[in-house]
Amino acid sequence: MARVTQDEICGWHCLTRRPIRLICKDGIIIKMDKPRSRPPRVQWLAPSLLDAQVNGYGGVDFQQDNLSAEELLSAARRLRAAGCARFLVTVITDHWPKLIARLRHLRSIRARSAELQAAIVGWHVEGPFLSSEPGFHGAHNPALMCDPTPRHVRELRSVSGQDPLLLTLSPERPRALKAIKLAVSLGIKVSLGHTNASPEILRAAVEAGATGFTHLGNGCPRELDRHDNILWRVFETRGLMVSLIPDQIHVSPPLFRLIHRVLGADSIYYTSDAMSAAGQPPGRYKLGNMELEVGPDQIVRQPGKPLFAGSALRPIDGIFRAARMLGCPWQDVWARFSEAPAELMGLRNELTVGQPADFCVLQVTGENELAEVRVFQASNLVTSSPSTSVRRKSRP
Ligand SMILES: [Zn+2]
Repeated sequence: MARVTQDEICGWHCLTRRPIRLICKDGIIIKMDKPRSRPPRVQWLAPSLLDAQVNGYGGVDFQQDNLSAEELLSAARRLRAAGCARFLVTVITDHWPKLIARLRHLRSIRARSAELQAAIVGWHVEGPFLSSEPGFHGAHNPALMCDPTPRHVRELRSVSGQDPLLLTLSPERPRALKAIKLAVSLGIKVSLGHTNASPEILRAAVEAGATGFTHLGNGCPRELDRHDNILWRVFETRGLMVSLIPDQIHVSPPLFRLIHRVLGADSIYYTSDAMSAAGQPPGRYKLGNMELEVGPDQIVRQPGKPLFAGSALRPIDGIFRAARMLGCPWQDVWARFSEAPAELMGLRNELTVGQPADFCVLQVTGENELAEVRVFQASNLVTSSPSTSVRRKSRP
């Protein structure tokens, strides 16, 4: 007979900053109340990080054909160890049939693993409908870019079933506005990115249903016209949830602060845009057909070129670096890497009753710096050892 297992953990809720006791049963949080005694001030509970743009992780490149279930699981577990139990697997610009085949393959691997189903909450397709202008295409191959057609959009929807799907495209491409309308009518979330669109086209894209902007401050040339550039145009466009890569590299600390001030914290979410080098030592790593170089500074470059190509950021480090750049406690920024991206995707990712019992347990130092992060593991979802502070009751 199956064992019914109940877990209990106490800590400080990172958003309400109150002491809480969580009781979890069969992988779900079933109760959240006040603990009988105050938990140690250094133990915090937080919803799992949710990363909406992961191109690869821990030495595994999601752009490779015939990726194995073991490789995908290994990347998911490495992300989990970095506080991120949920993410969107991201596939980038390629020949369309190859991109579709890759997505189909990844989805079939996920369908065979309960652990991958819990971790991969959807898909992010970045390209091939992007700007091929120098600087704007970033690490994407402009020769493989094309204009979106209804056939493309319907094919994406059919290959991803009803899974949450984020499509990053450049709205100035011919027929892009029609494609946005169709995509949104099919339940696809549309994010603008790698774009040099005019203010009028950005506004038209929002009217057509686009709700996101992908990694603002990147996917554009290093040198921009001081009077008129994509940053200023996005600042003036209402209705977009903007992602930022908080690694202190992709967006400089002053620009990071300014974007928060101009757009407001509620219009921002964080993503790692991680590639296979993330969570790994410096070296050479793959992103699709490209070989990229990662130095001790954690910058991912195409050898000999100035533009960045994805990041080597661990999600949990993104939280603490964002807090450092903004000069605030990490608790203030946590929702931007957990609840906010979930909201963009129409998902829930909160620390509350009824939610999956895989959330972050953080130990911090007296200075409120990270000492350790673990994703709490409900005992019927065992893939790694639970926190030592978990009290466990089980009965046959
Ligand atoms: Zn990009």
